[in-house]
Amino acid sequence: MIGADKIIEKKKEYLLPSSHKNHFYKNPPQIVRGDMQYLYDDTGKRYIDFFAGVSVMNCGHCNKEILEATITQMQTLQHTTIIYLTEGMVNLAERLASILPGDLRRSFFCCTGSEANEGAMLLARLYTGKDEFIALDGGLHGRTYLTMSATGIPMWRADPDLSPKVHFAKNIVNEGLDIEEGARQSLKSIEKIIKDRGAENIAALIAEPIQGNGGIITPPKWYFKELKSLLEKNNILLIIDEVQTGFARTGKMFAIENYDVVPDIMTVAKALGNGMPISAFCTNDKIAEKFTKPSASTLGGNPVSSATALAVIDYIEKNELCKKADELGKVLKQGLENIQKKHPIIKDVRGIGLMLGAQLVKENGEPAIEESDIILEKLKDRGLIVGKNGLNRNVLAFQPPLVINKLDIETLLSNLEEVLGEL
Ligand code: PMP
Repeated sequence: MIGADKIIEKKKEYLLPSSHKNHFYKNPPQIVRGDMQYLYDDTGKRYIDFFAGVSVMNCGHCNKEILEATITQMQTLQHTTIIYLTEGMVNLAERLASILPGDLRRSFFCCTGSEANEGAMLLARLYTGKDEFIALDGGLHGRTYLTMSATGIPMWRADPDLSPKVHFAKNIVNEGLDIEEGARQSLKSIEKIIKDRGAENIAALIAEPIQGNGGIITPPKWYFKELKSLLEKNNILLIIDEVQTGFARTGKMFAIENYDVVPDIMTVAKALGNGMPISAFCTNDKIAEKFTKPSASTLGGNPVSSATALAVIDYIEKNELCKKADELGKVLKQGLENIQKKHPIIKDVRGIGLMLGAQLVKENGEPAIEESDIILEKLKDRGLIVGKNGLNRNVLAFQPPLVINKLDIETLLSNLEEVLGEL
């Protein structure tokens, strides 16, 4: 093992500068092993993982049951691409159709979240014949040109010359407003864009049900229903990005189900492969019909990723991970709220299921950016990996593997309380 310092040295020497600043911590460990909700570094130290590689490892690191399916498939047939017939991809599509919301039942497989969102936006253009989009401030949808153009977090917009065809509406968090009023303002700002640009120009609105990187921004219950009906009135499609929220994380298979809304197009990635690259954009029969030219992603829905994804869905269902996320999420949220009462630096605790955030703000009202870093570092030293996001990088993110247990959560909460006391 080469150790953390050597890894940083090689990153600086051989990767692009854009990758240098991306690791957490002043003293980052070299992670060498994972086992369900635990990670281990090169010294053998154990960490409870509360970030799951950003909502990827919902079924746990190196999950033996899932890996058995992966490895068996790897040893049998790895890849042929879709010009040849193999059954993994179609079996997975059929399985997805059985768990997707409402009338969504057709899938196009690719490898990353960015690729799925890019495909979803293409499909919206093909179906509507229109070519402009609405996205929300604080949303994140990917690194390709159009998905980066739809990303409303300045830090993740690397290209200075992004598409002018994406228009940004306010998200539900607006300075000085409560969430309900913020959500109403958000809808108003969407309405204004539709009016200004003309409904005849806008193909779709793309949004995460809960903004992950934006800081676990969680709209009120009524928001997506009203949004959907506003869009329907204007013949604008709703694309829901479930890349980070999908697969039991919020106590439902998909987060949008918490809002009782069926999107026109939905994208999935991350947790579907539990560490193997797979993504998809999914839609109903009517919209799917418009995508007629041949199209294929070379590695999209390859036999190994498909076999893994099928095992992932089996595992989620067999182990009732939706129920677990719901129950344990309540324990974690309640614990965070109890800590909040004693530590006013926690301004807000939010999220659904095991997708929770704690926003940290200083006494003078400014975002507690430095403090967030100190807390993350101290928790890491105590064997706890917690995430960080938000436009100001001051939201602690709790998105653990859903196989976590109550004791892990109690360990996190008691350590967090001690660390806050040390500040
Ligand atoms: N959408 C959301 C909501 C995401 O969180 C991410 C990645 N963090 C993406 C899209 C892009 O996914 P990928 O990195 O797999 O391209």
